Amino acid sequence: MSDCIFCKIVNGEVPAEVVYNGPNVTAFRDINPQAPVHILIVPNRHIEHIRDWAAFDGDVLKEMFQAANEVAAMEGIAESGYRLMFNFGPDANLVVPHLHLHLLGGRPLGPMVARQE
Ligand code: AMP
Ligand code: ZN
Repeated sequence: MSDCIFCKIVNGEVPAEVVYNGPNVTAFRDINPQAPVHILIVPNRHIEHIRDWAAFDGDVLKEMFQAANEVAAMEGIAESGYRLMFNFGPDANLVVPHLHLHLLGGRPLGPMVARQE
């Protein structure tokens, strides 16, 4: 997709700190990290939403989880722990409509969802 920032990162048109580069998946550091380790794991192909399940061939999801596992080990947080997270739609604050898995860690992350008054 020509207008998609994550497609541009995958294609090398926009710079990013890439930490994993595989046949179906790329992982790079989030530009606005919410934890000491904050990495985005994305399919190389533009898949917009989990509802586009037909766009996943078996290897894409498998490699996303493989990459998460490898990157967590490389970042030294495999044992201390980390959180994997997808956002979809406005209630989840989705900003970039190219499927991405957040990998967060490097400090205690607290409860999964912040309590709001
Ligand atoms: P989400 O709210 O799940 O759509 O998250 C999108 C994430 O992409 C945010 O955490 C942004 O900080 C991150 N992001 C946006 N543009 C870039 C970029 N050019 N390089 C790295 N991360 C980015
Ligand atoms: Zn894209």
